[in-house]
Parts: sequence; C-alpha cells; structure tokens
Amino acid sequence: MRQLDKKKYKDKGINMKKITTVFVLLSLFGFSNKITGQVFQNKDLTITKLESNMWVMETSDKTTMYLIEGTQKALLIDTGTRIAKLDSIINIITKKPLEVVITHAHGDHAGNISFFNEIWMHPADTVLLNRRYKGKLNFVKDGFVFDLGGTQIEVSHMPAHTPGSIVLLDRKAGNCYSGDAFGSNHVWLQLKPLSPMQTYVNSCLKMEQLIDNGITKIYCGHYPYVKKAFDKSYITTMRQLAEGLINGTGPEAQPYSNKVGCPNPMAVTSGEATIVFDPDYIKQIKNK
Ligand SMILES: [Zn+2]
Ligand SMILES: [Zn+2]
Repeated sequence: MRQLDKKKYKDKGINMKKITTVFVLLSLFGFSNKITGQVFQNKDLTITKLESNMWVMETSDKTTMYLIEGTQKALLIDTGTRIAKLDSIINIITKKPLEVVITHAHGDHAGNISFFNEIWMHPADTVLLNRRYKGKLNFVKDGFVFDLGGTQIEVSHMPAHTPGSIVLLDRKAGNCYSGDAFGSNHVWLQLKPLSPMQTYVNSCLKMEQLIDNGITKIYCGHYPYVKKAFDKSYITTMRQLAEGLINGTGPEAQPYSNKVGCPNPMAVTSGEATIVFDPDYIKQIKNK
C-alpha cells in the first residue's frame, strides 16, 4: 500500500512536470500566435496585436499602420512617418512576402514608401504623391482584392479627404481600415484638392451600406487618438453633419484652431465626430 502511494506520488510528480512544460510551451506559442497585446516598442513605434492576424503599428507622432497576415502573404496598410528600419521591424512580426498599400498619399500615411520597391495606391492621389519615390507604383480601383491566402482584403474608393482615398475591407473579419477617409474623430475636408461636400456624403452612404453588409469595426488612420474601432453611429453622425453643411441646417460652425489647408478653416461637431471644412469653398459650390 505504502509502495503504491509512493508510485502514485511519483506519477503525480511526473505529471506535474509534464503539465508545467506543456503550459510553458503553450504560453510561448500563445504569445506569438494567439494572445493579443503589445509585441514591439522602440522610440518611434509601438506594435500591438489586435486580432489573430492583425497588428496596429502606432508611431510616436500618432500616425498609424496596420499589418495583416494571410497564409501566403502579408499586407501593410500605410507606411507612417520617420521610422528607422521599418522594413526590418516588420520582418520581426512576419516573414511572409509583403504587399504595401497606402490609403491615400498624404505624407503621414506615405512617409516611408521609400523602404519598399513597390506600393499600391489609388491613381487619383498621384497628384499628392512625393515625386522622389523611385519604386514601382501599382494602382488599385474600387473592388480590387489583395488575396493574402485565407484572408482577402478588398479596396473601396471613398473620396473626399483626398480624391484617391480608399478604405480596405476584410469582410470575413468584419474590419475596415479607413485611413483618413472618415477621420479619427476629425475628418479634414479643407485640404487641396478640395472635393464637394456631397462627395463626402456619398462616401459616408457607401460606408453605411458596407456596415449594413457585415462590416462592424472601422479602424481609422490615427488610432492613437481613439484607441478603438468606430461603428456605424460615427459614420452616420459624419454624414448628418455633412448634410447639415450642404443644407445650412446643421450645428453652428466654429473656427478651427489649426490653420492648415486654407486661411480660415471652420469646424462642425456632433458627439465624437467633427468635420473641418473651407467655408469659402462651400459658398463657391453653392453659388454655382
Ligand atoms: Zn490625410
Ligand atoms: Zn492622416
């Protein structure tokens, strides 16, 4: 009996050891493959795993990139600003062949394109692109799909912030990566080349329809300001603000403190949504 107990104890001991080993292995495996959370940080950049195959990369000056990994390829959405060795940092996260797409050609979204031999973008934004880019430009259009293997990322054209602004849709995950198309609390519609306010209304309507067809999370282009994904109410509020500006029925506009884009930018706000616009351009359009 005593011997049996000893054996039992011994077996238990071995089992505990085995269990501990398995647990350690599982947590190591989990750290790199399952559990979300911060995976990299230096003075320029913080990388956080948000979903099983998706990372948000936040720069210290509050620009954002997203990295999505499929079974065959990975896709980098936007290239941020001044990150030393961005390409080798991405290589720590994924070894899959990388495609690079920019949501639009503003410097805070296309700042590091020189790290990459080729990029994808909408042709309507080439007017804004830094001409020093020596790599190959590939053009997307509405409906274009990046097939990463098991994950498809679809392009949807959402002009207004810039003429060639696009959002990237992962319909399976219910995700939309929106760049600045709908802002990150504030959408800037006062920057040249200006689009009519109706163009923005149409983009909001298109986005609302995508949400009705399964998109649930809108990851914006300046994630550090919001630290969450937007939902339909944000887009609807934006559309209503834009309609109010067209019809003159919205909330009263206030001067916008950052005089970027035009001499006297104004802003209208409702809840967490703000539209910054050029009042002279709205008048000009109305008088046509
Ligand atoms: Zn922008
Ligand atoms: Zn931006």
